[in-house]
Amino acid sequence: MDLFEYQGKQYFSKYGIPVSLGDIADTVDEAVAVADRIGYPVVVKAQVQVGGRGKAGGVKLASNHEEARLHATNILGLDIKGHVVHRLWIEHASEISREYYASFTLDRGAKAHLCMLSAKGGVDIEQVVEEDPEAIARLYINPLDGVARADLERLVVEAAIDEEARAGTVEILERLYTCYIEGDADLVEINPLILTPEGKVHALDAKVTLDDDAAFRHPEWEEFALSQEGDPREIMAREKGLNYVGLEGSVGIIANGAGLAMSTLDVVNQVGGSAANFLDCGGGADADLLADALEVINSDAAVKAILINIFGGIVRCDEVAKGVLIAIDRVGLTTPIVIRLDGTNAPLAREILAPHLSDRIIMETTMIGAARRAAEIANERSK
Ligand code: GDP
Ligand code: MN
Repeated sequence: MDLFEYQGKQYFSKYGIPVSLGDIADTVDEAVAVADRIGYPVVVKAQVQVGGRGKAGGVKLASNHEEARLHATNILGLDIKGHVVHRLWIEHASEISREYYASFTLDRGAKAHLCMLSAKGGVDIEQVVEEDPEAIARLYINPLDGVARADLERLVVEAAIDEEARAGTVEILERLYTCYIEGDADLVEINPLILTPEGKVHALDAKVTLDDDAAFRHPEWEEFALSQEGDPREIMAREKGLNYVGLEGSVGIIANGAGLAMSTLDVVNQVGGSAANFLDCGGGADADLLADALEVINSDAAVKAILINIFGGIVRCDEVAKGVLIAIDRVGLTTPIVIRLDGTNAPLAREILAPHLSDRIIMETTMIGAARRAAEIANERSK
């Protein structure tokens, strides 16, 4: 889960990383009130989960009440690379002497944590990687050892951080590492990390990606989860604990196992259909789960046919068949559904489904046959 900048800053603050005083605002009036309260100059910042807000006009300095109103008016509702701004973060503006880059992330290849630090911050770090890779200093950290102060002291020199900023940067990196480890993040990034004319080092931006698998030990993440924006189908699926990715097509797909789900997508496309989603309902595939899955797919108006493709390995097809019937009933489904069940107890499953078959509940015995049928129905109903 990615956090918005303001959430990332709240998260950093908890670990003692210095950030500017600020608050969120969802309307122009709120924004002006926040600006008046924290004192000018302020910076008005679009809260969208995409980089390069500055260049897109989503970060503006305001030196008084009128400017704050003007910028808030312009930025709210702005479309930044497909992300519409619904919320602003207003913070007291900082004076900047230098802009640096700092991050911790997991390098899976190296089986270690990786700290990256550069004196070339403020700009797109991917661009620095390409044009001047030497400008980024790297430190690999064995997760069992943790990070040693001496290593960070070497790193700031290697990264050519200005002398007066080194001590402050080391301190922030130590806290950032704690925040990354104890906070269960996959990525923490500060770009820019600034040096002020008074010699203070300070986080001006915050990018945090949390490790969703650690959510169980962070009840406080609930609040972050609620504010997530994005595909409403994906939000609904996430709430139900389904592994779902929304796509553009018209055939809704439910399969058990990620591999089968992906090959079902391929087969649907191969026979001239288009997949509306990826949905792996896992090994269980009980009635409740199937009903949840059908509910998510049913909420998508673009879906004109549903294809259920289950291979019974551990899961028994007769249980799945019963589940499908209960689920169709519970959801009140009207979209035609093509079912292909194979594997353990498949003949029994077919017997269970047989009395219920109609032009809306269709059974096919092969994967390609089922895909073809679902694609035909979807294409016909899309006309
Ligand atoms: P991003 O473009 O989405 O990465 O947004 P940032 O929060 O990194 O802001 C972009 C740029 O705006 C920064 O690199 C700074 O140059 C500038 N900026 C942001 N906050 C301030 C501030 O408080 N004072 C000044 N002078 N510039 C700022
Ligand atoms: Mn930034």
